[in-house]
Amino acid sequence: MIAIILDQVPFEQDIRELFMAFYPGERYTHEPDPNAMISFTASHPSPEDKTYLLCLSVKGKGERHFSSPAHPDRLEAKNELKRALYRVLSEENQRRLPWGTLTGIRPAKLALQMLFDGKSEGEVQEILRDRYGLSETRNALCVRTAANERRALSGLHLKQGWSLYIGIPFCPTTCLYCSFPSYPIGKWKRRIDWYLSALLEELSCVSGWMEGRPLETIYMGGGTPTSLEAEELDRILEAVSERFDLSFLRELTVEAGRPDSITEAKLSVLKKRGTTRISINPQTLKQETLDLIGRRHTVHQFFESFRLARSFDFACINTDLIVGLPNETEEDVRRTMEGIRSLAPDDVTIHSLALKRAARLNTEREAYRDVRYGDVSAMVSLAYACCEEMGLHPYYLYRQKNMAGNLENVGWCRPGCEGLYNILIMEELQTIVGCGAGTTTRVLFPEEGRYERQENVKDPSLYAERLPELLEKKRRLLAGT
Ligand code: SF4
Repeated sequence: MIAIILDQVPFEQDIRELFMAFYPGERYTHEPDPNAMISFTASHPSPEDKTYLLCLSVKGKGERHFSSPAHPDRLEAKNELKRALYRVLSEENQRRLPWGTLTGIRPAKLALQMLFDGKSEGEVQEILRDRYGLSETRNALCVRTAANERRALSGLHLKQGWSLYIGIPFCPTTCLYCSFPSYPIGKWKRRIDWYLSALLEELSCVSGWMEGRPLETIYMGGGTPTSLEAEELDRILEAVSERFDLSFLRELTVEAGRPDSITEAKLSVLKKRGTTRISINPQTLKQETLDLIGRRHTVHQFFESFRLARSFDFACINTDLIVGLPNETEEDVRRTMEGIRSLAPDDVTIHSLALKRAARLNTEREAYRDVRYGDVSAMVSLAYACCEEMGLHPYYLYRQKNMAGNLENVGWCRPGCEGLYNILIMEELQTIVGCGAGTTTRVLFPEEGRYERQENVKDPSLYAERLPELLEKKRRLLAGT
């Protein structure tokens, strides 16, 4: 247990996230607790005081008193406090974090903004090192990614343009680490029509509300859209082509995530309807791990599906991998990367395992208490080196809470094959309208530099039932742009 007690000092979430990075899996309290392993107090007795008084107390080791300037600029004050706390926690733990004091999920957004503001890559690296203490490797990765993002974005209408996300929240089975909206397709078979009718109604409304604005990317995700039958996929994509002006469209992605959901008929529909990018995701090429994490497909099925998809000549095929899966070693990751290399994918996304609270690997912890986790940092380095050898470069990057090794997820691609939607959503650069259960609409108000969100309910039944109310909210939000 870690106690964080703040007296007239804000930044509670940032402080807790910094502790979480050093002490993953700990519980937190905001009351004094004599049983706490660590207590951190921060106080600012009066607004005139020029410093925050900080104290870290570690059970059995005593107290350390330190301070940070209570700068009038809130952001500056927060950064100073985090730097001071980071120094003390690094000494206490005898280690530094790869991302230094940066606890947000979008480190490349900071770098990209600085590049947009005219700073050179060298200047951005200097700022990231001095202000946030990024390790040399993460700093270089971050700035390189941002520079590639910037190049890929050229020609897009970031302010007036928009992107469409279509949510298909069904999968063949539920993976052990899943925290996405996902319902087993088998249980939904008879009611799919009902869901699709609601979805098509939402798409019709959105096409009217967004008329006149260039639609630049479409992403169909979930879930696993290819859990649907070929005719059902066709119905959605036909509706999209009839209801939207696609003359500005730069990219149409469909997640065919689970190899066990892919058929020739489905790929044929995707190709016929103009899909440019698909994702086929093995996560690992170790069969025992696939069985353990509940993906219910084989390594062989992945290779078959990938080769079948190649024969349809999509502009880009992406494969998602997860590093740090239970019981996997560096040797397993090396073998997976060798297998991936043999297919020469256009885009490879390397995720570090993030154990979200809702994932079964967490909620059913007792059942999986014997699983072991390897050195994620070494495995990630190995995977990145292999991406470099394949001639891929990093083009988007994000972090999640509870990531193994405190690392990141990185999309690597052949230059020119960047998934634009991935960049737009990660860096919050364009309005993205979500249609379907469990989707989020993110409206960018460029003049005010802010984003506003509206979420559709997750449950597909409730989504269809409450559609009129959800549409009314969406209409009002989009009318404000
Ligand atoms: S395929 Fe993806 S969305 Fe579906 S259950 Fe697995 S992790 Fe969740």
